[in-house]
Amino acid sequence: MKIAFFSTKKYDMDFFNKLNEKYNFDIKYFESKLNEKTAILAKGFDVVCAFVNDDLNKKVIKILKENGIKLIALRSAGFNHVDISAAKKYNIKVVHVPKYSPYAVAEHTIALILSLNRKIHKSYLRIRENNFSLDGLLGFDLHGKIVGIIGTGKIGRITANILKGFGMKILGYDKFPNDEFIGEYVNLNTLFEKSDIISLHCPLNKDTYHIINKNTINLMKKGVMIINTSRGGLIDTKAVIDGLKSKKIGYLGLDVYEEEENIFFEDLSEEIIDDKTFLRLTTFPNVLITGHQGFFTQEALTNIAETTLENINNFKNGTLNQNVII
Ligand code: NAD
Repeated sequence: MKIAFFSTKKYDMDFFNKLNEKYNFDIKYFESKLNEKTAILAKGFDVVCAFVNDDLNKKVIKILKENGIKLIALRSAGFNHVDISAAKKYNIKVVHVPKYSPYAVAEHTIALILSLNRKIHKSYLRIRENNFSLDGLLGFDLHGKIVGIIGTGKIGRITANILKGFGMKILGYDKFPNDEFIGEYVNLNTLFEKSDIISLHCPLNKDTYHIINKNTINLMKKGVMIINTSRGGLIDTKAVIDGLKSKKIGYLGLDVYEEEENIFFEDLSEEIIDDKTFLRLTTFPNVLITGHQGFFTQEALTNIAETTLENINNFKNGTLNQNVII
């Protein structure tokens, strides 16, 4: 199996090379993202291995087909960046890693909640400047507060379990409720109206695009905390900026951003960032942004490499019966 590996970072090579000792696949690592301009690089390969900010639109999939690609092996759970109907049309199979470490993302969600609430990001900087004043660092007890979990799948349920341990009351909304969810299911409007913290854990699709928007923000409690470790497109960023300016939103924690593909995963410290919306977000003291690092734990990277290579191996042996999107 010849694998064209896109959006490669050093840590990808470290984990994949180690686990590939078992399979000995021929992996060519490309730093470039997969898009209409770079898809031609896949010529002569059997498989493309892609990540969250690769763009597998209709045109890209057509180019991949013309160049002999038989399998798209996503090293992510989400597949909103793949035109699935085009893959079907061109008879290219798509596999993913549905569960690599839901704990990684749930724990990062908690990190954002605690840091924002107790203003750890500010304390860290203050102490370095010998400023030991507590002014501006006032937080609130999580105990007794209400959290609303939107999307009670693997990550949402683990997040709920952890927050239950803090003594929070857990509300949930899901299109497909799950018996293992420990909270109380309510309708979406009730969740927006009652929650002190709202945490997003549903996939991005046509139903959930901009689920946080001007109208839903209007329903929320004044000073609400919104956390998004799922997908950027769940939030209408401009509406959230208005909510922050009016102080309706008291805290915003983001690990994902609508236009992140032009920013995240790169060192842009010597560059000029041209995204005015993103730059506006970074000016608020009560906004904490991480660059899509929720998945970034040793356990998750090991599982991603293991499952991706096993998916490819199953495809090679004609035994592919799990982790298949189409
Ligand atoms: P999952 O499939 O186990 O859970 C998703 C849940 O959302 C399911 O229960 C599903 O029924 C529900 N859902 C579907 N449509 C919905 C709708 N319209 N409204 C409300 N709920 C709906 O997925 P998961 O493993 O828990 O992952 C959740 C999300 O986390 C993924 O979609 C992915 O975008 C994101 N994610 C982020 C990172 C990161 O690094 N930040 C890493 C992995 C996953």
